[in-house]
Amino acid sequence: KIKAQVMDEENIRRALYRLSHEITERNKGTDDLILVGIRTRGVPLANRLAEFIREHEGVSLPVGMLDITFYRDDLSLISSQPVLHRTEIPVKINNKKIILIDDVLFTGRTVRAALDALMDLGRASCIQLGVLIDRGHRELPIRADYVGKNVPTSTREVVHVKLKESDGEDCVVISEN
Ligand code: 5GP
Ligand code: MG
Repeated sequence: KIKAQVMDEENIRRALYRLSHEITERNKGTDDLILVGIRTRGVPLANRLAEFIREHEGVSLPVGMLDITFYRDDLSLISSQPVLHRTEIPVKINNKKIILIDDVLFTGRTVRAALDALMDLGRASCIQLGVLIDRGHRELPIRADYVGKNVPTSTREVVHVKLKESDGEDCVVISEN
């Protein structure tokens, strides 16, 4: 059952707008940047960040995607092993700065698998991580460089990220199983 709404459409837009500025500020512009979304919802988030960056920097960054999922369909279960299904990165990553983007950071296992996949593709000069929601409960030494909102959760709770591109509306709500 739904317990609380933690972000509405405006909150999400402002958070992504801020992240788009943090990314260009930390990297001193847009040189060599590639955004890589983790499917499913990291991809529209990466596209929205690319659009904001285009608006304020006048540069269209390449956007790629990694398709990584768990052998789990119940998000409330502690993860087993993430599996890489597909990689679509439109440019060579050697000496590029990769900004990985996902909707929710939880145990960190998906990001670890993403890092593995990226290492196989070449030697990026650095890899940074941006997430819309950090819900805590890390099981690995992984943290996000850019966070839309920190949402402390219990392990029984699930964060529902709804985006217009996939769900017809923009909001983040928490439910308990
Ligand atoms: P982790 O690998 O860090 O345990 O989990 C992160 C991945 O699983 C992300 O790709 C994210 O989409 C998904 N995920 C984990 N927990 C949640 C959650 O509570 N809500 C949503 N929407 N996705 C989650
Ligand atoms: Mg995911």
